[in-house]
Amino acid sequence: MKLYNTLTRSVQDFAPQSSDKTTIYTCGPTVYDYPHIGNWFTYVREDVLIRTLTTVGLNPDWVMNITDVGHLVSDADEGEDKLEKGAKREGKTAWEVAEFYTEYFVRGMEKLNMLQPTRLTKATEHIAEQIDLIKKLEEKGFTYTISDGVYYDTSKFPRYAEFARLELNEQQEGARVEANPEKRNPTDFALWKFSPKDHQRDMEWDSPWGKGFPGWHIECSAMAMKYLGETLDIHAGGIDHIPVHHTNEIAQSEAVTGKPFSRFWFHANHIMINGDKIAKSAGNGITLEDITSAGFSIEAFRLLVLESHYRTQSHFSWETLEAAQNRLRSYYAMAAMRWQSFGGVDGLTEADMEAYKSAIQTALENDLSTPQALAELSSLAEGVSTKGIQESSREAFDNLLIWIDEVLGLRLSQQGDINDHQKQLVEERETARVGKDWSTSDAVRDQLAEQGVGVRDTAQGSIWYRL
Ligand code: AMP
Ligand code: ZN
Repeated sequence: MKLYNTLTRSVQDFAPQSSDKTTIYTCGPTVYDYPHIGNWFTYVREDVLIRTLTTVGLNPDWVMNITDVGHLVSDADEGEDKLEKGAKREGKTAWEVAEFYTEYFVRGMEKLNMLQPTRLTKATEHIAEQIDLIKKLEEKGFTYTISDGVYYDTSKFPRYAEFARLELNEQQEGARVEANPEKRNPTDFALWKFSPKDHQRDMEWDSPWGKGFPGWHIECSAMAMKYLGETLDIHAGGIDHIPVHHTNEIAQSEAVTGKPFSRFWFHANHIMINGDKIAKSAGNGITLEDITSAGFSIEAFRLLVLESHYRTQSHFSWETLEAAQNRLRSYYAMAAMRWQSFGGVDGLTEADMEAYKSAIQTALENDLSTPQALAELSSLAEGVSTKGIQESSREAFDNLLIWIDEVLGLRLSQQGDINDHQKQLVEERETARVGKDWSTSDAVRDQLAEQGVGVRDTAQGSIWYRL
């Protein structure tokens, strides 16, 4: 399988270290608010990666974290903890906010038909591991303490700028004016922040350095290494993680272990809306509920995500979502053929099914080319709708739909049969049509349409599909 690796800035052959599994860590949500569709784009793209690894037999052992403490409003480790901010906004404790949005996130994953990680790990449940890692960094001389916390001295890690190809001088000049003047270097980041003197935080712990809470980056290093070992096969996240979060994860982990933290780095590009990045702070954060309230299905949204390649910047509009919904309908019409007899000797054969399966798999193994995989799926849908399926290949067709669902998660194989009454109506309409009784034929068609069932006429009779 080929994957683009941010570490080398090239597409490389991927093979895991161990023959029996692939260790993969994906940076999960900060649970202080509803995720927007930009966030979900990234998670669905990671889901396709996990599904593809599974399909090609690389058995992902997948850890995703839940950031429920320590992610500050600004990347410069300044400002409020997002969880405490959410707590103030909602008049709840940070713990209640974290619980609510964690549950919401897990439900969202289920709705989007994402696979569940082997472990979903919370930062607040791994405070001891984070303290341990900071202690190791301290022993090796990578830390210093200032008035608001313990910081990582990035000048002690000579390769700091390498991963993101950072221009440190530029960064220095462009450093935010309000950045902490006590920091030795603008890129230094907090490992442990002290609780404020003037009020009590909802979330705080004792540590060798005083009461406080961990910085955002340390949780990922600590949890990834605890569950997956010192060198991961793949580490994934959004491209915005490259210059700060992942750069810092590398600096922390590699300073302690002396080993590469991850062999492959997978980054999903951003989704834009009207030329701007979707972001909560920009106020354009459309949610999954906005999508369904506008009458679109979650699967249509999932299909929209798959329509662009994960490394390209994609653009959201309601028109493209509508086009995705229509495309999905054509796939569901294809899936409905498993309940109907149509095709005869001209229909698609088992060999055709195998060829489509292999073409879709090849596309995905080529750096997850979901647009190409969907082009193959559309070609299959077109073939099935025009030629039908040979009677002897019906089982192969069923299995193909199940397999496509395993890799793309579009729930094609879950599209059920119509009920007996509707079947009877389809027959009645066919009889009326053959007898040229157009008014009955139209009336029955309308009746079916009201129940969400469409019909089309072929030389071999009527075919139904869901509207
Ligand atoms: P956050 O909860 O803000 O840490 O973001 C969660 C994930 O969503 C991260 O992996 C981000 O890279 C990703 N993300 C944020 N905004 C966008 C966007 N507009 N398009 C795609 N991914 C995004
Ligand atoms: Zn992370």
